Amino acid sequence: MSAIASLFQEAARLAAGFRESAPARHVPRHDYAACLAAFDDPLPAAGADMADVIRQLAESAEPGLHLTTGPRFFGWVIGGSHPVGVAADFLTSAWGQNAGNHVVAPAAAAVETVAARWLLDILKLPAESSVGFVTGATVANFTCLAAARGEVLRKAGWDADARGLFGAPEITVLIGDDAHTTVFSALQFLGLGHDRVLRLPTDRVGRIDPAALPGALAAVTGPCIAILQAGQINTGAFDDFLRIIPALKEKGAWVHIDGAFGLWAQASGNFSHLSRGVEAADSWATDGHKWLQTPYDCGYAIVRDELAHRRAMTIAASYLPLATEGERDPSHYVPELSRRARGFATWAMLKHLGRNGIAALIDQCCASAHVLAEHLAREPGITILNDVTLNQLILRFATGRPDDESDAITRKTIEKIREDATLFAGGAKWHGREVLRLSVTNFQTTADEARLAADSIITAFRSVSSG
Ligand SMILES: *Cc1c(COP(=O)(O)O)cnc(C)c1O
Repeated sequence: MSAIASLFQEAARLAAGFRESAPARHVPRHDYAACLAAFDDPLPAAGADMADVIRQLAESAEPGLHLTTGPRFFGWVIGGSHPVGVAADFLTSAWGQNAGNHVVAPAAAAVETVAARWLLDILKLPAESSVGFVTGATVANFTCLAAARGEVLRKAGWDADARGLFGAPEITVLIGDDAHTTVFSALQFLGLGHDRVLRLPTDRVGRIDPAALPGALAAVTGPCIAILQAGQINTGAFDDFLRIIPALKEKGAWVHIDGAFGLWAQASGNFSHLSRGVEAADSWATDGHKWLQTPYDCGYAIVRDELAHRRAMTIAASYLPLATEGERDPSHYVPELSRRARGFATWAMLKHLGRNGIAALIDQCCASAHVLAEHLAREPGITILNDVTLNQLILRFATGRPDDESDAITRKTIEKIREDATLFAGGAKWHGREVLRLSVTNFQTTADEARLAADSIITAFRSVSSG
């Protein structure tokens, strides 16, 4: 066997070994300090054998790997890095394509054209929209909001891409009070300021209160960008697009949707009622590496007005051949020039699951979230705080004893769950209170896994409340 073949086979063997072992523990054995110690050698003067390096990498890393690919990982909102996506990503790395340009990487550019069309189809978004393949929803939000910024100012007679923001007409940015923190980061990167926004009040599950809109809009006279949400990070809630978007459009606002995971409700007949009206927006940010299960990193910046998208992102240089009509230059839709060819893994996942498989995946995750909610709600002392309409749950724990403070009991229960390590779930703060947050976004989280996880959570809570 050639050196390359045996090296790649070794990597594949290690990868399969990791994925097929079913570790009992859903948390890493090594913390950051132990991981650092495992890697912390001085820079070697002499090189090392290829396969030895890969074996040593796996040996040092594995104790510090979180089982984010496992069926009982409910922390944050993290997809399962599906084997088909992983295999496509192996090939992507092996092929080493620079996905910036259709001449440099024809296959990578072409697969994006097709994957983009499929994404718009499955997400039921306007077919004329353009799609940029970015690192994730953070950069998707950034990219879409760059297009928004350019377009609302262009309409006000200002070329922001050429002249910047100094002296530009003021933009009013409307955003829900429970928007994701990375949207505020995107506003910061764009010179729009993370605090220079008009925050709209939200209800107990994080939806913008539509009644607050007329008052807020009355103050808007110039360019306006409004940011709505499909899938609140804690509750999974959706803004009321049918009511809110038309009012915003009437004011000439650019409406952007952060739908990192929630936009995928569009792909299932059983959940698309939650996102009804979302297609009336101007731009949408979503992730491949959450619900579509592609490996990291993979997100999509979707803009209805392709020209606005391209104006905001185009990189032109004399040595880069320009795409003619009908050819795609991937770099025209994203901030980077050189990057990995994310279209391959996206295409592979869409091809593997198909329309029905994706709907089934969304349905399974949401059904498992319901199983968790049902089981947990039966236990006295456990309160589910949100309506479990999608895949997210937040819950609180209380003993009922007057001296036991519920925040402290919730924190202790989360710690106990971590110690038991049958599952992984994290804490969060929701409207000032400590909560346990469960996110179901893994293709392997069946109803049985959900029941097992619920039992473990209940056991942990009982041990805390009796201790
Ligand atoms: C995860 C998430 C983001 C950020 O996405 P990344 O892929 O981590 O960049 C933004 N908004 C929401 C609602 C999210 O769930």
